Amino acid sequence: GLSIGIVGLPNVGKSTLFNALTQNEVLAANYPFATIEPNVGVVAVPDPRLDSLASLYSSKEIVSAMVTFVDIAGIVKGASVGEGLGNKFLASIRESDAICQVVRVFSDPDVIHVNGEISPSSDIETINTELILADLQTVENRLVKLAKEARKRPELAQALSALEKAHEILNSGNTIAGAVGSGKLDATFLNDLHLLSAKPFIYVFNVDEDALSDLELRARLAAMVAPAEIVVLCAKIEAELSLLDKDDAAELLASFGQVESGLVQLVHVGFRTLGLQTFLTAGPKESRAWTIHIGDTAPQAAGTIHTDFERGFIKAEVVSFEDLMEAGSIAAVRSLGKARIEGKEYIMRDGDVVEFRFNV
Ligand code: GDP
Repeated sequence: GLSIGIVGLPNVGKSTLFNALTQNEVLAANYPFATIEPNVGVVAVPDPRLDSLASLYSSKEIVSAMVTFVDIAGIVKGASVGEGLGNKFLASIRESDAICQVVRVFSDPDVIHVNGEISPSSDIETINTELILADLQTVENRLVKLAKEARKRPELAQALSALEKAHEILNSGNTIAGAVGSGKLDATFLNDLHLLSAKPFIYVFNVDEDALSDLELRARLAAMVAPAEIVVLCAKIEAELSLLDKDDAAELLASFGQVESGLVQLVHVGFRTLGLQTFLTAGPKESRAWTIHIGDTAPQAAGTIHTDFERGFIKAEVVSFEDLMEAGSIAAVRSLGKARIEGKEYIMRDGDVVEFRFNV
C-alpha cells in the first residue's frame, strides 16, 4: 500500500499529527490499524463506500485500504553534512512513496521555533536544501564508482551521463522530481538510487485553528509550493478529532468550517499525487478496498489480491459502486445489464466493484 514519510523541522507538529493519525478512535472502532514501530503507523483509509457494501452483502468484516505513515525525525539545518542524517533516517525516508513535509504556520508563542521566527517559505527551503544535499552525496558516491567502471564498459555511458545531469540539477539547488516533471531529465537510470528529491512532495501546513477557513492564506500557501499539492490542517484539532466518535468529530470539524479531517485530506492528496485509485470487492465474508494505480488493467488489479490471480486471470465481472447501490443488489444490477464482463484489456476505474474469474 501507500507509504508516506513525514518530515519537517523540529517543533512543527510532526509527532502531534502522527499520533493523531495513528490513534484515531473513529477508525479504531471500525477498522484495524497497527503501530509497527513507535514511528511507523498503519492507518485504515476511511472509505464510506465500504460501509454501504458491507450492509448490502451482510459482510462479516470490513477491510480498508491501508496507508503507512512514517514519522521521520532528524532533519535540521546542516543535517546532511553533520551527524544529523543517520542511516536509519535515510532508510525510512527512501522506503516512502511520497514525502509529506509538515510546515509550521501556527503562531503559539509557547512553542519555540527552531529558527526564532515563523516563516513557512524559509522552513521549506531549509528542508528541501537538506534533501537535495543528501541526494547530492548519494549521486557523487555513485558517480565516482560509475565513472571508473564506464572506462571499461562503454555501455554504461548513458547511465553515466544521466547521473552527471542529475548531479548538475542537484548542484544548482533543484529537485530531481522537478527536473523529471519538466522533461529535463530521464529518471530511468536513477531509479535504483531512491533519491529523496525524486519522490513526490506533499506539503502539510499546520495552521492555527481559526485560520483553517482562511481561503486567502490557503491560496498563498498553495502558490508557495505549486505545482505540489497542499493540505491545510491544525494538528492540535486533529489530535482532538482522534479522540471523538464520528458524529462529534464531524461537529467539531464543522465548527471550523471544515468537512474533511486532515487524515482524509492527506490520503486523498496522497492518492492524487501518486496516481492511485481504489477498487472494491464484496461478499458475505468481507467488503474490502484495494489500492491500484490509475491505468492498471483488470489482471493487474487481480494481482494485488494474489499473484496467482494475475497469472490465471480469465475475466472479471465489473459493476460501478454507484450502479450497484442504485440497483440495490448484484442480481438487480445484472438484470439491468449494468454488470459488465471484462477481459484482460480492461482498464480499471475508481470504485469498480469486481469479482474475478481465474484459473489456479
Ligand atoms: P515535532 O517536533 O515536529 O514532532 O513537533 P510536536 O508534534 O512535538 O509539537 C511541538 C509542540 O507544538 C508541542 O508542544 C505541540 O503541542 C505543539 N503543537 C503542535 N501542533 C500544534 C498546533 O496545531 N497548534 C498549536 N498551538 N500547537 C501545536
